[in-house]
Amino acid sequence: TLQGSSYGKEEKILVLVRLRPLSDKEIARAEVVDWECINSTTILYRNSLQERSGLPTAYSFDRVYRGDCTTREVYEEGTKDIALSVVGATIFAYGQTSSGKTYTMNGVTEYAVADIYDYIKRHEERAFVLKFSAIEIYNEVVRDLLSTDNTPLRLLDDPERGTIIEKLTEETLRDQNHLRELISICEAQRQVGETSLNETSSRSHQILRLTIESSAREFLGKDKSTTLAASVNFVDLAGSERASQALSAGQRLKEGCHINRSLLTLGTVIRKLSKGRSGHVNYRDSKLTRILQPALGGNARTAIICTLSPSRSHVEQSRNTLLFACCAK
Ligand code: ADP
Ligand code: MG
Repeated sequence: TLQGSSYGKEEKILVLVRLRPLSDKEIARAEVVDWECINSTTILYRNSLQERSGLPTAYSFDRVYRGDCTTREVYEEGTKDIALSVVGATIFAYGQTSSGKTYTMNGVTEYAVADIYDYIKRHEERAFVLKFSAIEIYNEVVRDLLSTDNTPLRLLDDPERGTIIEKLTEETLRDQNHLRELISICEAQRQVGETSLNETSSRSHQILRLTIESSAREFLGKDKSTTLAASVNFVDLAGSERASQALSAGQRLKEGCHINRSLLTLGTVIRKLSKGRSGHVNYRDSKLTRILQPALGGNARTAIICTLSPSRSHVEQSRNTLLFACCAK
């Protein structure tokens, strides 16, 4: 990594689970919380009815975070090493709508970018170029979040670079403030869809990608082979309830199937990767996995932050999220 030395280390996918606190509204409704993190790796479901049902009550992961943990803690202990990996990285947020995916991902992205800029400042012997791009995948349609043009983007197969997104806007970053500006453009773009398409953000996947190129100053302009490049993907997934919900008809059904396809394929891909990265992995089955393929296979590192709503009324979805998380381990 940029900080430590886990380069080339054979790592499984890092799986983190984060419980969010009850919201004021949930407190006002007197929602009950049955989840409890009993140590740093185990989360427990404590409910007398549950105990009699025979379903599992304890779930263990690489790390679990209680409702009162900060995003800074999740980032520092969990995803920092991965975000700063020189071999490329992908960090996912997975969970039902309103469980805290965007809240967590926004913070993680902000901290990671600050650390990357800090690293650059301390390594004057190299020249760095940072590039940023952002897309949304909705109904298996890919859109550029940095462009006001709503035309779907096509995926092309490049024999050398793998899947590339045609005509995708790629901004060269001036500084950290520039990145903040771009991220707020993405948020606005996502919200435009939201009013017209009924909360698109809960049904679409968002990928923010930071590409870091660097070359030793002494070879600058002389030898292209000294250039290193790594991408970090910050992925805010569609609400996981879409994968399990039985949807009625028409548009919603199609939507459900597509979201289903991306999330299900992601689940299959991740399961295979977590079992040692061997055998055929069906990246091509969805846009999400096709786009992320270069960042998921090989040496690239992966973390999944599974977010949970704490309230009893969401227990069904929370359990589904934990089952997904267990599969990724
Ligand atoms: P999602 O993206 O999964 O739909 P959000 O990130 O939008 O969920 O979170 C839903 C609401 O809960 C937001 O108002 C957010 O600010 C709040 N929230 C989520 N996680 C936390 C947390 N860990 N601490 C405090 N508030 C949170
Ligand atoms: Mg969200």
